Amino acid sequence: MPMLLSADQIRARVNADWDSILDVVKDRIALRPISANGISGEHMRASAQYVADKLREVGVDAQVVQAHDAQGNPSAWEVIGSTVVDENAPTVLLYAHHDVQPVPDENEWNTKPFEGTQQGDRLFGRGACDDAGGIAIHYGALKALGDQLRVNIKVFIEGEEEMGSASFIPFIEAHHDEFESDVIIVADSGNWAPDVPSLTTSLRGNATCDVHVKVLEHPVHSGQYGGPILDANTTAAMLIAKMYDEQGELNIPGLKAGEPIGGLQRDLDEVSMRAAAGVVDSYKLAGTGSLASRLWTKPSATVIGFDAHPVEGSFNVISPETTFRVSLRVSPLQDPHEAMNAMVDFFESNAPFGAQVHVEPLEAGMGWAMDPNCTATQDALESLKEAFGVDPVNKGEGGSIPFIPELQKIFPHAQVLVTGPEDPISNAHSPNESVSVSGLKNDVVAEALLLDKLAQND
Ligand SMILES: [Zn+2]
Repeated sequence: MPMLLSADQIRARVNADWDSILDVVKDRIALRPISANGISGEHMRASAQYVADKLREVGVDAQVVQAHDAQGNPSAWEVIGSTVVDENAPTVLLYAHHDVQPVPDENEWNTKPFEGTQQGDRLFGRGACDDAGGIAIHYGALKALGDQLRVNIKVFIEGEEEMGSASFIPFIEAHHDEFESDVIIVADSGNWAPDVPSLTTSLRGNATCDVHVKVLEHPVHSGQYGGPILDANTTAAMLIAKMYDEQGELNIPGLKAGEPIGGLQRDLDEVSMRAAAGVVDSYKLAGTGSLASRLWTKPSATVIGFDAHPVEGSFNVISPETTFRVSLRVSPLQDPHEAMNAMVDFFESNAPFGAQVHVEPLEAGMGWAMDPNCTATQDALESLKEAFGVDPVNKGEGGSIPFIPELQKIFPHAQVLVTGPEDPISNAHSPNESVSVSGLKNDVVAEALLLDKLAQND
């Protein structure tokens, strides 16, 4: 069996190729591939063509294919392709997306959003980190390995991630064999810090429902009936309040909670979290346990809508009925439909004063958890450590990236690794988006090392 390449060997090659790798990010920024301006547009086809050309340069027979949505309409321009080095070697699918978010107001930027501009260690421009950097990582890693590549590669560079990936499932199902792989590397997330690498280990799922609360057949005067009859708003508020205990722990039987996947190397910093969210000084954070577990792996319920009469123009009436909408973030380890059922049972069996409570389930989306013990994960952690020179710090996501659980569902046996060039100051989706140049280089080195290590596994 051939020797593994060392981090120094890989780094020397990446250094030699660095200008061309960084040019990929700059070119991508200049292409303005804004999917919101039309996913099937000519500008998106040109964007996909650029990616296919670059991938062909590093040995992948990439081509541009137009996807169709569930209704059969022409949709996003996708880049797919493969390179087979050995029928018996493991196969790795590389994912990134080539579309970017729009720029609603160029004046909010300190640099020109569609001109890659380097200031110190940051390269600014729309899409720099999301996800031009991801494309550059795949390109740079394949370039560094060259003809020493020892795994089979498949690529899927999506053209509508920022638009919710409407044709993602039909497209993958139509190209099932072309994407079938042992390991999937999703380069669309990020690191703990520019100099501290991470795998993204989990995503919470979600379940949303509407809760209807009814106490009267019609509105009545609060002077005449107030006292024995509590209004629907108050009754609903009592029901809402039962969701949490005194400490702010969610108290809905049947909801699962977990600890950070793969262990917690470093907890989130309360001071910076408070500052980022704009928490008022007097507010004590709810819940118990690490901040990371509360944000990543425990469920949380948020009332995102509540039908009540506006304060202005309100009058002395006992409201007969109301509806509130709850958005539940589901632990990555729980099926969202199971969580939905637990939520429905909870509301329907806790009606204050026997009010009529009817729950209408809305959508439910899967979360995702990495397998922390599989060889691909161990290889990825080692590669990140060798490339960055420090131990990786894993992180979860409180929100969801719907296509990752979808990928995992369609390819249940694939080991999914979520990486990427973002960091806490990258401003993805916002003005002054940027990527760390040194961090990106380490990401390229890490992915090349990872592909090399994966070749040893079967
Ligand atoms: Zn992205």
